[in-house]
Order: sequence, then C-alpha cells, then structure tokens
Amino acid sequence: MQIQIEHILLQALMVLFPTVLYLAIFNDQPNKKKRTLIFALILMLTSGLAQVFAIEVDDGVILDLRMVPLYFAYVYGGNIVGLAVTFFYLLVRVILGGWGMVPAFIVLIIMTALIQLFAHSYQEWNTKKKMWVSATFIFSISTFLLLLGLFLLEISFSYTVFVTSILFILESSVVTWLVVFLIESHREKLQLVQDIQKTEKLNVVGQLAASVAHEIRNPMTSVRGFIQLLSASENLSKDEKQYVFICLEELDRANSIINDYLSLGRETNVKRHQTMDVVTEIKRSTNALSSYANLRNVEIIFNYEEPVYINGDPGRLQQLLINLIKNGIEAISDSGKIVITAVKSKREAVIYISDNGEGMNEEQIENLGLPFYSTKEKGTGLGLMVCLRIIKEMGGRLEVHSKEGTGTTFEIIFPLADEPLQSENTITEEDSVSV
Ligand code: ADP
Ligand code: MG
Repeated sequence: MQIQIEHILLQALMVLFPTVLYLAIFNDQPNKKKRTLIFALILMLTSGLAQVFAIEVDDGVILDLRMVPLYFAYVYGGNIVGLAVTFFYLLVRVILGGWGMVPAFIVLIIMTALIQLFAHSYQEWNTKKKMWVSATFIFSISTFLLLLGLFLLEISFSYTVFVTSILFILESSVVTWLVVFLIESHREKLQLVQDIQKTEKLNVVGQLAASVAHEIRNPMTSVRGFIQLLSASENLSKDEKQYVFICLEELDRANSIINDYLSLGRETNVKRHQTMDVVTEIKRSTNALSSYANLRNVEIIFNYEEPVYINGDPGRLQQLLINLIKNGIEAISDSGKIVITAVKSKREAVIYISDNGEGMNEEQIENLGLPFYSTKEKGTGLGLMVCLRIIKEMGGRLEVHSKEGTGTTFEIIFPLADEPLQSENTITEEDSVSV
C-alpha cells in the first residue's frame, strides 16, 4: 500500500474549507441562535466530509480529522453543539462501519471528558494560548488514538503505516492551529470594526453635547429657581401643587440628561484625580437618591466593612454610581431592593450594585453602553455610555451579571490605591449631591 498523500491533503481541505466558508459568509449573522445552528451544521458537514474522504491505513482501519470539528464544537459552541456533532459523527461512523470504531469510541469519550476540564475557561485565554493549547491537545489525542488503534487492532506496523501515522498526527495539530487562528483573527477583525463604529458614534454625540447642552443649562437653572419659589406659595390648590412638583421633577430629569451629554463631550482630566474612599462616595450617592428610591418603594442597602481607597475624580465616581443605582431602581417595577457592597480583593476595589428587578437577556447585555440604547419609554440610552467612559478613565472595568426576571448585578472593579496617611474623607451627615 502506498502513502496516500492526496487523501492526507484532502483531509486538511475538508476541515479548512467549511471553516473558511463559515467565517466568510455566516459569522456576521446577528442572531446568536441562528449563528450557533449554522456553526453546528458546518461542523457536522466537516465531520461527515472528513470521514467520507478518510485515509485507509489497513482493512477497515481509517484515519481522519473528525476530532478537529468535534473539538471546536465543544470549545466554541458549548456542550449542546458538542453533543449534536458527536451524535452526528457516531451516526456516520456506524454507517461507514469498520474495525477502527472501537478505539475511536474510547478516544471520543476520553476527549469529551478532557475538554470539559478547560472548555469553560477557554474563551478567556488570548489567541496564542488558544492556538497552542488546541494544537497540543489534538496532537496528544491523535497520538493516543493511533497507539490505541495499533495496540487493539494489532495492525502490522509497516513503513507506510508509520509515515502515514506521523503525517496524520502532524496534520491534525497544524489544521487545528490554523482553524483557531482563522476563527480568532476573524473575531478580532469584527471586534475592531464594531469598536470603530462605536467610537464614531461617540464622537458625534460628544460634539453635539458640548455645543447644545451648555447653552440650555443656564436658562433651565433660572426656570427651576422660580418654580421652586412658586411651590412655596400658599395660594396654590392641591392639584396646582402637584403640577409644580411634576415641573420640578421633569426639570431635574432634563438636567441629568444634560449632565450626561456634557460629560461625554468633556475631556478626561487626570490631574483632578485624587485618593478617595469609595465608601464615602457610595454614601453620598445613595443619600442623593434616597427620595427617588422611596417614591418607588425601593430599599437601598449598603454593606461595607472598611474604607476602600481608589484614585479618581469623586464627582465622576458619584455620577457613575448614581447612574447605575438609578438604573437598578428603574428596573424594579413594584417594590424591591438594591444591595450595594464595597470590598477589597487583592489589589482591587470591587463595588457590586445588585437589584432584584426585571433583569436582561443576552442581547440586551451585549447592547449595554451603545449610544442611545434604551428600553425605557423615557430613557436616553446615555447613562451606561457615560458609566463606561468614567470607569475607563479611572483604569477600571465593568462586569454585568443578569438574569431575566431575577435581577442584575453590576460589578465595578478599580485598582486599589494606597491608604492616605490622614483620612481626608470624613463622612458627614450633610453630605449630599444633586442628581
Ligand atoms: P436609560 O436608563 O436612559 O435607558 P442607560 O444607558 O442607563 O439608559 O441604560 C440602557 C439600558 O440598559 C436600559 O434602558 C435598560 O434596558 C438596560 N439596563 C441598565 N441597567 C439595568 C438594570 N439594572 N436592570 C435591567 N436593565 C438595565
Ligand atoms: Mg439610565
């Protein structure tokens, strides 16, 4: 028997071609469910093609790259896609038959179990690590499959079998390495395009903000002052007082929208950064929101054990906290709770803001922070965009955990600052901020 170079090359093509096809045509599919379904179908196609065009080493003993699509099904598609592709593979394998089935099944079970060990942390790795771990994993599995096959099936170990086996193992690893590279570089490209689009939108919003918002704020301040005077008048009926109250409330809302716009146009001023205690700032922010929360039957609970120092602009931090807590209050329809926790962990300060409101689905979470993205009738969709900008300014990051119908937790992580020698932030009862 000859070394089947053309079959070996064909195997690489059978895996690479559907991958490229998927990335070129389907990967931009915005609907996640459809994308996953197409991904699963493409992997099934790959697995089927790999088996149909397999390398026959001995009578009934075939080598093929179907482990590669199986591997990708688990690490990129999750367990459901993994199981679907596994099932499809088994189906084709049984139809094709042959002696190699037994070692193939044993390896399949071992491989699935091993993948579970790292599949959940896979997405957090960088591209290089993904490429090397994947290639090494497939290399080891292919080697193991071959040795097991040789041992169980007692194949006569000729020169041809030896060379074919080596080529097969190398091919499996190189193809895996290439597929990870293709998927990841395509992903990075998509991310870059999205980032550019986002930045463009942000710039437009920022410029508009600076020009319009400032001009509107001055006349509004005087209107608010006069209406406040009017509200103190004793000649007003109950209904009229209610109207005046609504006026004030709406003016405050307009003011906070203007603040959001203004802070988008503003350049970051790192010089104003100072060491501040997160606990103090959270207290100030919850104070400012207490009447807003009372009105909506929301209880705000704040847990902390010690001061937590970070570097940044206290005004900006309050703006961030107020935006997030306010969103939490607005997510609660009837009555509920906002639980805020400030803790130190290693070299980081972590603030959790949890609500037991309506929660969000995956699509909503993905859209968070996009300009004008809002699901509220009176929403502006600017709040979270401002929050993200403030967090970035202070060198922090934001994580969102949410479940529809259960609630949302925003986790804000900042680098911890050294404790100041003398505490400059003494907490006083009168601490307050305007919302
Ligand atoms: P706005 O509050 O004006 O709608 P934001 O940028 O503050 O704008 O929020 C954008 C969207 O994110 C909201 O409309 C809402 O759908 C969602 N959202 C933000 N925070 C929460 C939360 N705590 N619970 C549920 N949904 C939230
Ligand atoms: Mg908001």
